[in-house]
Amino acid sequence: MANGIRYFVGNWKMFGIPSSYKILDKINGYFIKDKKNNKKYKIIIAPPLTLLQDFSKRFKNKKINISAQNCYHKDNFGAYTGNVSPFMIKKLGINYIIIGHSENRASGENNKIIKEKVALALKNNFTVIFCIGENKQEKKNKKTIKVLKKQVSKVIKNKYNFKNIIIAYEPVWSIGSGKLPSPHELKKNAIELKKFLREKFRLNYNPKLLYGGSVDKNSVHAFKSIKELDGFLIGGASKSSKNFVDIIKNFYK
Ligand code: PEP
Repeated sequence: MANGIRYFVGNWKMFGIPSSYKILDKINGYFIKDKKNNKKYKIIIAPPLTLLQDFSKRFKNKKINISAQNCYHKDNFGAYTGNVSPFMIKKLGINYIIIGHSENRASGENNKIIKEKVALALKNNFTVIFCIGENKQEKKNKKTIKVLKKQVSKVIKNKYNFKNIIIAYEPVWSIGSGKLPSPHELKKNAIELKKFLREKFRLNYNPKLLYGGSVDKNSVHAFKSIKELDGFLIGGASKSSKNFVDIIKNFYK
């Protein structure tokens, strides 16, 4: 069961310019006003790399947490043109990082690279939002749980402190498509995945699990009864303050 704080994580992908901080100002304003529920959830927004430093400073003492969307799989400094290490991102005051997003997997990130990224992110004291998910064919072949277990096992080491890892279950076929798993199916997968994580990593608490894939103000209704979910990773609908806030409003309605 998800009995702790809920997470609403926005992944802006390749979107945003310096003036886009105004979107976060509005979301921050909503959080402050939402006295009834705001102790129950946390907002994390992942803008592109170009905005991390500015947003990290602007929202340092506010209610929005800033996350990176990715990092390079080598640390510190080095001759890796165009790349940025976990160490460099951490120095901006960022505490969260998304790793293993399916869009990055699709452009060549394999488990070995993802494993290195997670290791370096944890070494730099990030909380890692680790994305896993099956594709359409794997779902059709009823391989979902097998795929999820493999993606976790190839990357997460037994010695890691799971309190610094948030799993984001994002079916690839659902991202940006408007297609959703049925609540029954999602609940079943969430239960099975959490059980696997508790057993494999010998956890005496429940690991955190988010769902991502076409979450918006309408679809969130279908998922709010799934107590096993600790929140949502939201792509398209996180780029507008209204759409993002409506998800939170509808979740607590
Ligand atoms: C995502 O990119 O992680 C995502 C879930 O996107 P969307 O909400 O647009 O499906």
